[in-house]
Amino acid sequence: MRQKLIVGNWKMHGSRASVNALIADIRQGIAIVKTTQVAVCPPVIFLGDVEALLKGTPIAWGAQNLCDQPSGAYTGEISADMLREFGCRYVIVGHSERRALYGEGDVLVARKYALAVKSGLIPIFCVGELLAEREAGQTEAVVARQLDAVLNHSGVTALQQGVVAYEPVWAIGTGKTATPEQAQQVHAFIRERVARHDATIGAGLQILYGGSVKAANAAELFRMPDIDGGLIGGASLNAVEFLAICQAAG
Ligand code: PEP
Repeated sequence: MRQKLIVGNWKMHGSRASVNALIADIRQGIAIVKTTQVAVCPPVIFLGDVEALLKGTPIAWGAQNLCDQPSGAYTGEISADMLREFGCRYVIVGHSERRALYGEGDVLVARKYALAVKSGLIPIFCVGELLAEREAGQTEAVVARQLDAVLNHSGVTALQQGVVAYEPVWAIGTGKTATPEQAQQVHAFIRERVARHDATIGAGLQILYGGSVKAANAAELFRMPDIDGGLIGGASLNAVEFLAICQAAG
């Protein structure tokens, strides 16, 4: 039985004060969330504060990115081991904003995935198609290409140590959500593609949906058989909304 997981991606929002306030509000309300795993991914500079505030609570934390190299002369980068040192459990890899704005391609994403696993982090591996690709009937081909990059680089056993997030790019930050049926179709496709390599790993893989999830649409998405929770952007910056999404997953 796969447990539901809700992850907040705070992107480059907030200040030290607002992050501390948001964490305090989530901590205060988390007791109502019973069976769902919950994590937040703040901007990396706030990880020390977040670790201090969340240690000993049921809420995990993670980063939004990592370097594809273990250490060395990579100015401005953050390594997997550094994230581990700050207690991170998760790291997002291959988010569409990094693919589109920072030119991260499938090979780089696959290297980051491998390094995250090697360091004991759980990568949250984002895949998803552009609107033009969906309209051209290429959704499955695009998602397959992105998935295969990791499968070919690290093998299917690496998928056992990660989480996949299906995030149609046209639904991220746009207010347009995939319908539960549209999302379910792609989630089932991802699971089946991994299961072709290893049925047990496919069946156990947590696959999150991301793209304008809010309290009002969360329950109908999370009811679908292959949707195991969500990667939440905008709505995760509001504690009441985020906790309601966590509750909807339970
Ligand atoms: C995201 O950035 O991963 C995301 C899903 O954003 P939003 O929920 O704002 O669409």
